[in-house]
Amino acid sequence: MVEVLGRIVLEVRECRLTQQGGGFWMVLRIIPLVNDLVPLPENRREPVVGNFVKLHEEGHQKLHHATLRNTLKVLLLLLALGWIVFVTFQFACPLWEAFLWLHVVAIPGRMLFHGFCWNQEYEADTYAFRQLEKKIAKNALRELTACEIPHTKLFALIYREHPTAALRQKKLHLK
Ligand SMILES: [Zn+2]
Repeated sequence: MVEVLGRIVLEVRECRLTQQGGGFWMVLRIIPLVNDLVPLPENRREPVVGNFVKLHEEGHQKLHHATLRNTLKVLLLLLALGWIVFVTFQFACPLWEAFLWLHVVAIPGRMLFHGFCWNQEYEADTYAFRQLEKKIAKNALRELTACEIPHTKLFALIYREHPTAALRQKKLHLK
């Protein structure tokens, strides 16, 4: 119940700060467990792929980001599985209750994981930025921002593996 209230407050805050309506997905995001599966659409339209985006992807490759990210994902998944087994056997907890607790514990866990992913995105941005003229990077991020559905930092940290383009601009001091 606390979670539902918290999520409603979060959605209202988001609507006010970004001046957008929530719609159908917003309702689904409020329901516990269901909200673990609801996707968050990121773009209004597909951005043009330019040099900055290409170099950003190259940065991910060079820095072995995918491997690191996937390893962490597997570890977290094992941790979750361990949790389910532990709670069901050790405390004779019904399975649904174990899942519900896992869902609650996973909320801050997810935010930490997203923070880790965000850091990788910033690193890839820095990699691309070093090889380009400032103006090109600036234009690329401006384009990404224009294509993106705007979100606040808190909202994005809870729901997204990518920082918003606006945050990335700030990080590179392009704003
Ligand atoms: Zn990236």
